[in-house]
Amino acid sequence: MKPGVVTGAEYTELVAACKEGKYAMPAVNISGTNTINAVMEAAAQAKSDVIIQLSNGGAGFYAGKGLPSAHDGMVMGAVSAAQHVHLLAEHYGICVVLHTDHANRKLIPWIDSLIEQNAKYREAFGKPLFSSHMLDLSEEAPEANVATCKEYLAKLDAIDISLEIELGVTGGEEDGVGSDDISDSSKLYTTPEDVWYAYQELQGLGHFSVAAAFGNVHGVYKPGNVTLQPKILRDCQTHVAEKLGDGNANPCDFVFHGGSGSDEADIKEAIGYGVFKMNIDTDTQFAFSSGVYANMKQKPVAFEHQIDPNDGTPYKSFYDPRKCLRSGEESVVSRLQEAFEVLGSKGNSIAGA
Ligand SMILES: [Zn+2]
Repeated sequence: MKPGVVTGAEYTELVAACKEGKYAMPAVNISGTNTINAVMEAAAQAKSDVIIQLSNGGAGFYAGKGLPSAHDGMVMGAVSAAQHVHLLAEHYGICVVLHTDHANRKLIPWIDSLIEQNAKYREAFGKPLFSSHMLDLSEEAPEANVATCKEYLAKLDAIDISLEIELGVTGGEEDGVGSDDISDSSKLYTTPEDVWYAYQELQGLGHFSVAAAFGNVHGVYKPGNVTLQPKILRDCQTHVAEKLGDGNANPCDFVFHGGSGSDEADIKEAIGYGVFKMNIDTDTQFAFSSGVYANMKQKPVAFEHQIDPNDGTPYKSFYDPRKCLRSGEESVVSRLQEAFEVLGSKGNSIAGA
């Protein structure tokens, strides 16, 4: 496949390659060019394909916090980030999936505006800006959730975009979607019946993936609060496979949210049950900020004085923002090498194959 952003049939081919090869791609939340470039550099280094995604907050930040309209910010920030990736991804020699993260009902206007932008871009360049978008209506009744997803899958498929839906609730909070209260753990597990219901409603309308809840939580909490139960994914696959009866043991394309801080064994088990995408945000946020900090603490005086107050030494080479930002990027690149390794995507890029 040609390196660069993959959409439509190329995207589904990449998903199929992951499932066949029993590996998953990390989906990394980004907030600016530093984090985007670090993700592409990391993927190129690992010879892995990768997913770059934006939350509504990340998109708004990308456009600039000073923009007067928050809606314009989250739309144009997402468009700008996507254009940046379209221009550069092929030069890194890997395939990149572009995706937007959690959109609950109040964020549907964001998705509506992105659909317009995708259609416009597709008209000019022959492919949409994004490979997939997520609708997270998991706090609603399954019927309402799936009915809206059905409507959007048809709209997205018409412009070669896939839809990620959420069934069951990923614990924790991310960018104002969800809640930090993870005390009612019964909601943290998706049922096979939920998945089959969604499958029946959505199949044939276009490509969709399912963020299923199996005890996963956004953010990193003290161990012991929730227990990951990857076998829930296995039970969902078995149920849908039996209903379909076409010999495909893992018909559902599963997404693992809240991957930060998870055990390697749980991650590997989940991949065995059809997970092709694992979201990672908290750990790469920490990697970036701690990388910046590591650089700054080498010479704290250089961030308070342009020249040394005692001996007049100039500190430009320390406070040049490229120094500490690069240190943040390098830290993300190194954290992601672990992710490619654990997810099994290292060396498996289908670019050029
Ligand atoms: Zn999530």
